[in-house]
Amino acid sequence: MTPADGGSGADASAEAESDAGTEAESEPNTDAENPQIRRLSEWDADRLARLADEYGTPLYVIDTDRVQENCARLQEAFSAEEVRYAVKAHTGRAVLETVREAGLAAECASAGEVERALNAGYEGSEIQYTAVNPPARDLDHVVDRWRDHPELTVTVGAADTADRLRERGFDGRLCIRANPGVGAGHHEKVRTGANAKFGVPYDDVPELAESIADDFDLVGLHAHAGSGISGDDLSNHRELVRRMGELTRNVESRVGSLEFVDVGGGFGVPYRADEPPLDLDSVADATREALGDVSGTLAVEPGRYVVADAGVLLTRVNTVKEAPDATVVGVDAGMTTLLRPAMYDAYHEIRNVSAADDVEAISATVAGPICESADVMCENRLLAYPRRGNLLAVGNAGAYGYEMASTYNSRPRPAEVALSGGAARLVRRRETLTDLTELEA
Ligand SMILES: *Cc1c(COP(=O)(O)O)cnc(C)c1O
Repeated sequence: MTPADGGSGADASAEAESDAGTEAESEPNTDAENPQIRRLSEWDADRLARLADEYGTPLYVIDTDRVQENCARLQEAFSAEEVRYAVKAHTGRAVLETVREAGLAAECASAGEVERALNAGYEGSEIQYTAVNPPARDLDHVVDRWRDHPELTVTVGAADTADRLRERGFDGRLCIRANPGVGAGHHEKVRTGANAKFGVPYDDVPELAESIADDFDLVGLHAHAGSGISGDDLSNHRELVRRMGELTRNVESRVGSLEFVDVGGGFGVPYRADEPPLDLDSVADATREALGDVSGTLAVEPGRYVVADAGVLLTRVNTVKEAPDATVVGVDAGMTTLLRPAMYDAYHEIRNVSAADDVEAISATVAGPICESADVMCENRLLAYPRRGNLLAVGNAGAYGYEMASTYNSRPRPAEVALSGGAARLVRRRETLTDLTELEA
């Protein structure tokens, strides 16, 4: 165990859950080379400070070496399965190229994401487009792209989406998204498995499969329970997978064998410093076991897990205000930069990168520059006393960070740099005030 592990409960629980028979001797080594989580405290403060000086703040930093490590760990845990990256967690080209080179396929939620995957060098055969109430424009575009990339797979979550594809002349690889009636997730807004919006009602899937098998190349079944599978939530995940195994056997008995069954993503990452990481091997074992016998390949599609701990958000302290019941630390990143705290009450670790070790910790409320009371990154959090000009780093910002940024309050979106080896590269320039009015007629 390295000092960075901090002797937290992480290792203890991983040990408790893993088989007694696994190669205990080689494990510490593997972990040191590719630990299950990179904590915010492990990012080099001097390097972050230099990046902020050079590129300005707010600034997203994404370490593509860490993305690569996360991919490698997933590939190892799911070595006989197929791992697809849920592109929506971070669609930056540098990330997509890294993930593609690591051998993960691409799970796309829109025509725009399909376009980005193709631009990043993905083959049609590695792309799955999972349409959620797809607008006509998306279907037009994807069917058009399919003509050049006939190996692309389209997943439908409603019977009439299959009709709409047929009307457009699509007769290619089709997958049915089932609503498994089981949800999991860290927040109500990310639980999709039991939400009628997503997927064909479970009991209707076999009949739908039969009725469309002649018109399309029916290749698989799909379900996604939501985001945030943790050790606690594994029973939900197991139940979803079990139901998908049952459904697959039923469908296969009617239309013959399928190529794959995709049980979704939602692999959690520890957002809190004292939270243990997910034991991927346990999740993989539980998933295989719950699925039971099916003829096709098991597929999973993590998004967050691939990129979350590979990213930090850097933000500068602009004002410090001693209010009667709080010290309000005003920073230049807000809910338009990182939406998760405002939208999901999400916890993100925050570190004062500028503070020396002996700076006293105070209880701080970190707030952004947006005129909304929800624009608060944390309340009453112990932080090394933030002073004006200090640089704060926000952890686990690689997933659903830049992706959810907006220009509300006419705030330009931040810049992003990608790290690889010793090098840093600007991969998204900072939006300008001129960019904000660019689309106006
Ligand atoms: C968002 C999403 C995922 C990925 O979820 P994570 O929590 O980021 O792993 C996977 N599949 C589908 C269909 C999704 O919508």
